[in-house]
Amino acid sequence: PQLANQIAAGEVVERPASVVKELVENSLDAGALHIEIDIEKGGSKLIRVRDNGSGIAEHELVLALSRHATSKITELDDLEAISSLGFRGEALASISSVSRLTLTSRTEQQTAAWQASAAGRDMDVDIRPAAHPVGTSIEVVDLFFNTPARRKFLRTDKTEFGHIDELIKRLALSRYDVGWVLTHNGQRIRQLKPALTPEQRQQRVAALCSKAFAEYAAEIENSYQGIKLWGWILHPDACQPQLNCQYSYVNGRMMRDKLLNHAIRQAYGERLTDDKVPAFVLYLEIDPRQVDVNVHPAKHEVRFHQSRLIHDFVVSALADALRQIAPQEQLIVEQ
Ligand code: ADP
Ligand code: MG
Repeated sequence: PQLANQIAAGEVVERPASVVKELVENSLDAGALHIEIDIEKGGSKLIRVRDNGSGIAEHELVLALSRHATSKITELDDLEAISSLGFRGEALASISSVSRLTLTSRTEQQTAAWQASAAGRDMDVDIRPAAHPVGTSIEVVDLFFNTPARRKFLRTDKTEFGHIDELIKRLALSRYDVGWVLTHNGQRIRQLKPALTPEQRQQRVAALCSKAFAEYAAEIENSYQGIKLWGWILHPDACQPQLNCQYSYVNGRMMRDKLLNHAIRQAYGERLTDDKVPAFVLYLEIDPRQVDVNVHPAKHEVRFHQSRLIHDFVVSALADALRQIAPQEQLIVEQ
């Protein structure tokens, strides 16, 4: 149990945002199209993720909370290997070992929902009937209540919530088909309806990246030899440091890729002076066999097999798009 706690508290669950990430990814895996995230006190008091996905069957609730692979780890040295591989079926078990976790779920086949609670490592999971529509709610209360050292590492509520909000922004920009609601201390911070048409997508971008970005960004849609690039890039005249919006995705996954960043800077060229910061929301879609996404899972980096080709295509697609919007004399950007 001691080893398990150290794994969960010290390596895997870093902060409230990492809990939210795991829970929301589970919701997306379950096919949810509506996800609500309620946060209290930056996540240290409460993290609740509610979805309308496929749900978890009653007889699988306990399994969902159990730690499958811990028996395979015998040495503390293995900790690093685990954290670099991600949770691998251990997210809920890890989170429940450092919080009070309640899981409520109902599948389409069930007429009633079931609820399971767990707290701390050697907990008994107890199961009782509950009320819940088809889908799953997971409540994580008092994160790190039993690992004071970890709890001490938490920053202010505002900072921790900032990390959560940033995560939801990234996710909402990668899944336009999903509706999102985010609240903090009972206050609705984001409410995003599913964005299925181009206009609705633009509205979502405006909501997440500022109206100014949506207004002064050039739209891109370009493809070449099976590579597709779409999204928006802000005209250099409108670029300002406070208009901080830099999101790029490769096959739906958020990336901070050197090649893409280099291509973006090159497309801006000399118009990108020192007092300006590029702003973009870009999606690169490419044959998955042409890209290796597992080089640095934690660092959000990828390796393209045909890096030269992709770089040059991105530069010319962006430069084309930027050329098409007329330079405006005085762009006054209001946030
Ligand atoms: P992993 O996602 O790697 O399988 P987790 O610990 O995150 O491991 O989740 C354990 C299991 O619980 C999942 O495999 C899934 O079957 C189930 N589960 C968790 N969250 C949800 C959810 N929101 N909807 C449906 N099933 C879920
Ligand atoms: Mg998971």
